[in-house]
Amino acid sequence: MNNDGLPPLRDVINKYDLRAKKALGQNFLTDLNLTQKIARAAGNLQNSIVYEVGPGPGALTRGLLMQGASRVVAVEMDHRCIEALNDVSKAYNGALTVFHGNALEIDECELIGDTEDKDIHIIANLPYNVGTALLVKWMTAQKWKPWFSSLTLMFQKEVGMRIVAEPRSKAYGRLSVLCQYRADVEILFDIPRQAFIPPPKVTSSIVHITPRSEAVDAPKQKILERVVSAAFNQRRKMLRASLKALGTDPSPKLYAAGILETARAEELSVEDFSKLALEYQS
Ligand code: SAM
Repeated sequence: MNNDGLPPLRDVINKYDLRAKKALGQNFLTDLNLTQKIARAAGNLQNSIVYEVGPGPGALTRGLLMQGASRVVAVEMDHRCIEALNDVSKAYNGALTVFHGNALEIDECELIGDTEDKDIHIIANLPYNVGTALLVKWMTAQKWKPWFSSLTLMFQKEVGMRIVAEPRSKAYGRLSVLCQYRADVEILFDIPRQAFIPPPKVTSSIVHITPRSEAVDAPKQKILERVVSAAFNQRRKMLRASLKALGTDPSPKLYAAGILETARAEELSVEDFSKLALEYQS
């Protein structure tokens, strides 16, 4: 038994025969000290609600509950894990609610219930195959400030580097701009391959993302997404060519935003993209 009165994760994995499925991006953590460290990295969880995607056998979920989260709402796609997670829910008197489903398709606010004035944190060891899509879904939310007050997420290190990348670097791209436009981002620490069953091919990183409070109006957000996609879809081309994909002559817009029409996407700061989106909005 562990401190929380539940069996060690390796026993849970054996008991429910949770052999990892590659198609579901399954690499399971087993060390509750490590998962509590991840939970602490999110900040003080006392009186907070946590939304977790892909709890699997429950290592991170248990870390979150051990660190005092008052409620954890989790979505897991693999039906084999649900029974194991129900054991965790019982041990914590129902503080864990598990839904069986696809996190890309669900409306989180509906699952959680009343999200107004609640301190909600998204904390997850994301499946590598849908991690980026989920992050984009959260960072492009229509309503901003959003329903969550922070995201503490595990990604492959390479994805973490893309999130925090600065202009003129190889890793700088659509994900960097979409995240940094609305939030402060940082890599907190790495997790070695050996921490998982089975070990993934690469090192993972814990990324912390804090939404900034200034309002970004929805129409500008939508236009920014289109501008950023067009610019980085042809990142080697000059903007006067790549932005033609948006349908109008880009040159006057670039000029008005104070950007050289010969510049390439990776040379633009997040601020430049913001100015350009304003020009496309008007
Ligand atoms: N949180 C566990 C841990 O840290 O040991 C498991 C993490 S594992 C990298 C990713 C988990 O996400 C797996 O349990 C997998 O079944 C689940 N998953 C994969 N795709 C999903 C989706 N679209 N929606 C919800 N869960 C998903």
